[in-house]
Amino acid sequence: MERFMPLYDERAELAPRDVVARSIDDQLKKRNEKYVLLDISHKPREKILSHFPNIANECLQHGLDITRQPIPVIPAAHYMCGGVRAGLQGETNVHGLYVAGEVACTGLHGANRLASNSLLEALVFARRAVQPSIDHMKSSSLDLSASNLWTQPVVPKSLGSDVMHKILRITKEVRKELQSVMWKYVGIVRSTTRLQEAEQKIGELEAKWETYLFEHGWQQTMVALEACELRNLFCCAKLVLSSALARHESRGLHYTIDFPHLEESKRLPTVIFPDSHSMSTWSSRQLHQHSTCQSAV
Ligand SMILES: Cc1cc2nc3c(=O)[nH]c(=O)nc-3n(C[C@H](O)[C@H](O)[C@H](O)COP(=O)(O)OP(=O)(O)OC[C@H]3O[C@@H](n4cnc5c(N)ncnc54)[C@H](O)[C@@H]3O)c2cc1C
Repeated sequence: MERFMPLYDERAELAPRDVVARSIDDQLKKRNEKYVLLDISHKPREKILSHFPNIANECLQHGLDITRQPIPVIPAAHYMCGGVRAGLQGETNVHGLYVAGEVACTGLHGANRLASNSLLEALVFARRAVQPSIDHMKSSSLDLSASNLWTQPVVPKSLGSDVMHKILRITKEVRKELQSVMWKYVGIVRSTTRLQEAEQKIGELEAKWETYLFEHGWQQTMVALEACELRNLFCCAKLVLSSALARHESRGLHYTIDFPHLEESKRLPTVIFPDSHSMSTWSSRQLHQHSTCQSAV
């Protein structure tokens, strides 16, 4: 078995995640393989089992003993760098809205992320946000009269079960297609041309989906979990694309072959505003705040 990681980085498998992911991606493309092998069998069995009990057990359930055999691996998305812009108490620029966890962009991680930082982000920041949000609720007198003027959301019962079945099926298919475009074109190694292609494909896909829904009797006021989630996924995908196109350097996991180097003058978060040209009417209504939205490996 040939060790390839030292060819890319002297820290080999212990290089940062973005470096390891790009190296694996490069090897998979060069060798036209579906996975690479991660071998830890040179370590004592007891040590492997005490350090990695969960992964050892999981692999064993699939017939793989990692104390003796190498593990097939591929890169996968495990984290979203970026999110809703937040301050040190989880506050956003929408008065009374607090965010914590992976949805927040606090600046803790920058353009890369160290392993196991979820604790810091999800627990520490959630705790920090609690008291200010309670104080906000106590101190502000909420004026809900404006919401009486809004059109009320409705469950799409009037469409009938046959139409709803068709709408849910197409929504599921479009969701899969969107995920596939994002993985293929906006994944580990990017280029401006491929990002633009993705932008076009996603725009067309969204238009196709919306047209289908409205041609089948869907109304602006209708809400269904699957439709809301897909609309939000389109919104996030376009934010990731806009951020990637705006960054003319490579930093951490934001890697593009057109600007492969780090540029200190560009050490700034990408902030996307709701009136950005790439947001559709549906999506821009979702975005009541500035967001940085970048992607993950
Ligand atoms: C494969 C993989 C490996 C990872 N490994 C690590 C690791 O080793 N170490 C580490 O620190 N982090 C790791 N992470 C990242 C970590 O799991 C996440 O960053 C963390 O769980 C985020 O926590 P959260 O509470 O912010 O969000 P989530 O855990 O995503 O929780 C959000 C919750 O909101 C719910 N929800 C969503 N929409 C709605 C809605 N409309 N209404 C009501 N509820 C809703 C969801 O069902 C979910 O329960 C990994 C992630 C992945 C995918």
